[in-house]
Amino acid sequence: MIKANVKADFPILHRQINDEPMVYLDNAATSQKPRMVIDRVTEYYFQQNANVHRGVSSLSMAATDEYEAARQAVSDFIHAEGPDNVVFTRSTTESLNWIASGYADSVLQPGDEIVITVAEHHSNIVPWQQVAKRHHAKLKYIRLNACGRLDLIDAKHQITDRTKIVAINHVSNVMGAENPVAKVSHLAHQHGAVMVVDAAQSAPHMPIDVQALDADFLAFSGHKMLAPTGIGVLYGKQAVLAEMNPVQFGGEMIDEVTQQTATFQKSPLKFEAGTPNIAGAIGLHAAINYLSAMGMESIHDHDLQLTTRCIERLRQLGGVTIYGDSDPANHNGVVTFNVAGIHPHDVATGLDMEGIEVRAGHHCAQPLMDVLGVESTVRASFYFYNDATDVDRFIDALSKVKEFFTDGLS
Ligand code: PMP
Repeated sequence: MIKANVKADFPILHRQINDEPMVYLDNAATSQKPRMVIDRVTEYYFQQNANVHRGVSSLSMAATDEYEAARQAVSDFIHAEGPDNVVFTRSTTESLNWIASGYADSVLQPGDEIVITVAEHHSNIVPWQQVAKRHHAKLKYIRLNACGRLDLIDAKHQITDRTKIVAINHVSNVMGAENPVAKVSHLAHQHGAVMVVDAAQSAPHMPIDVQALDADFLAFSGHKMLAPTGIGVLYGKQAVLAEMNPVQFGGEMIDEVTQQTATFQKSPLKFEAGTPNIAGAIGLHAAINYLSAMGMESIHDHDLQLTTRCIERLRQLGGVTIYGDSDPANHNGVVTFNVAGIHPHDVATGLDMEGIEVRAGHHCAQPLMDVLGVESTVRASFYFYNDATDVDRFIDALSKVKEFFTDGLS
């Protein structure tokens, strides 16, 4: 159960936009931060700031302990084998780029294949395009079924013995559809390919078990799950992390340096060159504590209730095309739509006038927009601090926008 006064924990949710109380429905882009995360980061800078993994000073050792405790918390949160499987990065984007440049770059041969889906975020497309180009490898796409999930039958056709990497989203940032990751991992492994999971939209909204998913790599961003920006996670199984090369070089990641050569630390430190985002990792730890106290199952159930209410009310409104599954249970807090005859940017601007913050655009998923036959859409995305009143305020505002652009002008 989500506690009744949860909004009280989020100072920003009490502000006004255009003289209206704000309703924040752009959670798929980034989440808001609870006071306890903000306070924890402030406390770190007030009382604990020091560099990590350096020296024997009390302050530095305490900061190192906090940073490594954050790694352990992430490991527990995603049911990893242990903290050594967790590499801190800047974001999902950085994690995926590192897999492409540090791992795929050293295993791909001409004629090999990378298989993704047509519903990927650009950060799970462009790094693969680049590495495929460098090695004359082929980038192949799994199509979607009518529910907006990847089509398992097509996945069986696309994944072959030439496939080295399969990289798919766990939950789509456009349609909210959850992909059958464990089944695709099984397929990938049958063909000797490595499974990469983009969990940017799932980690904030549902329990994650990397071992049950049998993911070789999994990536997500702290900022979509209450933590500060600039901290992300790259999970890897020990075998693939050992094979993966560091992408950045410098202090802290080395074992020994001579004038001409260097040896590196073991994973995860071999990937974390230079001073890491210590405050970000500590903020992520606080965020994980908050989410765990709330319960990821409760958060998932709450998302479902809100998306169901939202989709039902959008249908009642009429003239609205909703993308993805007709079953609200397969939307995971994300509702993407267009209103007949009104440009998505006009819809979003009209909603903003009423204090409702949504996103309009291609959502960094242009290949998916092509498949959907649109250039852009409007997206309302929910989190556990949204409630039924937020859904109703959004629908009432959308109704006004619709009236303004259609009846109001005719
Ligand atoms: N993948 C998905 C599915 C996403 O939704 C996002 C963020 N919109 C990303 C990757 C990239 O995340 P970030 O910008 O935090 O690197």
